Amino acid sequence: MTDPQSHFYFSNGKLSVDGYPLEPVIKKLNTPLYVYSSVAIRASIEELKKGLSGLNHLICYAVKANSNLGILSFIKKTNIGMDLVSVGELKRALQVGVDPQKCVFSGVGKTEKEITFTIQKKIHSFNVESVEELELISRVAEKCKIKVNIALRYNPDVDPKTHPYISTGLKENKFGLEKNEILEIVKNIKRHSFLKISGLSVHIGSQILTLKPFDDAFAKLKKLAKDVELLMKARLDFLDLGGGLGVVYQNEKTVSIKHYTQLIQKHFGKKSDLKARYEILIEPGRLIMANAGALLTTVLFEKKRDKKRFLIVDAAMNDLLRPALYESYHDIVPLQQNKQGGSTINSDVVGPVCESADFFARKRKLSKKIKSKDILAILSAGAYGMSMSGNYNSRPRAAEVLVVDGKKIKNIRLRETEQDLWRGEKK
Ligand SMILES: *Cc1c(COP(=O)(O)O)cnc(C)c1O
Repeated sequence: MTDPQSHFYFSNGKLSVDGYPLEPVIKKLNTPLYVYSSVAIRASIEELKKGLSGLNHLICYAVKANSNLGILSFIKKTNIGMDLVSVGELKRALQVGVDPQKCVFSGVGKTEKEITFTIQKKIHSFNVESVEELELISRVAEKCKIKVNIALRYNPDVDPKTHPYISTGLKENKFGLEKNEILEIVKNIKRHSFLKISGLSVHIGSQILTLKPFDDAFAKLKKLAKDVELLMKARLDFLDLGGGLGVVYQNEKTVSIKHYTQLIQKHFGKKSDLKARYEILIEPGRLIMANAGALLTTVLFEKKRDKKRFLIVDAAMNDLLRPALYESYHDIVPLQQNKQGGSTINSDVVGPVCESADFFARKRKLSKKIKSKDILAILSAGAYGMSMSGNYNSRPRAAEVLVVDGKKIKNIRLRETEQDLWRGEKK
């Protein structure tokens, strides 16, 4: 499993991405700037593929983790599919040439317009999250005269033991269908002549750090699959296991991709009781992107207080919302190695936005050598970073670059201009 520093490290005293120096990139493009490592992205995907080999499988990258076309285009080249939660994401996937047959559509609030467009594109399957949604998909499918594959998203009531905002598989969460609802749907499916129940899916949450919740969810899913097949008197084609595997932000003990895929093999592989009967889908997002990206920012001002200081930087919560939203931890390292070490001082690294939640670190012991004008890298920002960004306080959004194989850079997003800020507005 990659840790935050394995692709972002010092080379000749300067921070690099896989050995590619970042200082010249910043000189040219300025900060705030998101940088990504193609090597890191590929490494996790290849490890997942290796772990799932022998299984008929489809890895669907969860586009919402980072939906930049440059990232999607790179991921597409690894031949995996995509997990979408809006038609906007489907259109992004189509932009980079992803085969719709490798796309699944998840989410609790799909609109008729979104469903219509998606049905016409003939995606792999819809993950259905409510009875009313099922009825809507059925009506649209009938209107389009297109047979649609659906998976019923099961809420297994398993505690993923993660931050409450990213728990999705508990009874109290808005996601998925309960067992009884699923059995009811199965009993009545004959009414929907354009729907085929081809699979079941689960996705219990994000940043999950132990195998137990997965183990429990997979066991419950298998049991439900059996019940559903008995009722349908037919086999399901696939099971979608969702995403959610956690990554290292600080020093968490995580589950390796190897152990995660071994668990999948144990439940669904050739040696399992199911003897690899189903196509297995997974939907990783964070796992692929989190430690493949960093947010670079410049210290604007240092402001001293009793026993601590503020480092006011030019990035803010509108660029990276995770600390404000989840009080999440991100490692912060200087661009210049010689700004590390020596005596430290409790530092609050904060942005310019008028909210006290606008911070990247609190009481972080950072070297006293870090001063105004220094560049800092906020690590592990590749997932749910840029994709959650906004324009609060009328701040143009950051630029993004992909470092390809540690050898060259690809500008994958221009910095927004002021004109971009009021595009579509009327005086
Ligand atoms: C967000 C999401 C994912 C990805 O979760 P990660 O924790 O980033 O792996 C997968 N599936 C669904 C349905 C999601 O909503």
